[in-house]
Amino acid sequence: MTEIALVRGDITEADVDAVVNAANSSLLGGGGVDGAIHRRGGPEILAACRELRATSLPDGLPTGQAVATTAGHLPARWVIHTVGPVYAKREDRSDLLASCYRESLRVADELGARTVAFPAISAGIYGWPMDDAARIAVTTVRATPTDVAEVRFVLFDDAAHQAFTVAAG
Ligand code: ADP
Repeated sequence: MTEIALVRGDITEADVDAVVNAANSSLLGGGGVDGAIHRRGGPEILAACRELRATSLPDGLPTGQAVATTAGHLPARWVIHTVGPVYAKREDRSDLLASCYRESLRVADELGARTVAFPAISAGIYGWPMDDAARIAVTTVRATPTDVAEVRFVLFDDAAHQAFTVAAG
C-alpha cells in the first residue's frame, strides 16, 4: 500500500530517494521546478541529461514518459525527469498527464526507490488548471501498482496544497 503525503515546500529540499522533475522534452533545463532542480543539484544533472540526449534520447524525452539521472547535490539520490503535456482547452490530454505519474513510478520501481516526491506536473508554465492537475495526480497514483512506499506531493504554494488536499479527499 502506497502512502500519499501532501506537504508545502520546495521539492529540491525533499529528503526522499527520488524527486520527480517537471522537465521539458529537451531535458536541457527550463524554468519552474526544472530550473530549481538544476540550480540546486548542480551541473552533474545537466551533464547526465546531455549524455542521455547523445545516446538513448537523441530527439528528447516524449511527453508522458520518464527517465532517471543522478540528483547531483540534492538530498535525493535520483531525479526522475518526466515531460507533462501543455494544457489545451480543446483537447483532452489527461491521459498524457496520468502517464507522467505512472511512468515515473515505473522508473522509481526500476531504481528501487521507496520514497518519491512529485511536484504538480504541468500546473505551472504548462498551464494546467490546478484542481484538475491535482485530481489526475492523486487518482493516478492511487490506481498505479508500485513498490514505492511513500509518494510525497511537494506543493509550492497554498493554492496547490489546498487543491491537492481536496483531491485527496
Ligand atoms: P510545468 O512546466 O510542468 O507546468 P512548472 O515547473 O512550471 O512545470 O510548475 C509545476 C508546479 O511546480 C507549479 O505548481 C509550480 O508552482 C511548482 N514549483 C515551482 N518550483 C517548485 C519547487 N522548487 N518545488 C516544488 N514545486 C515547485
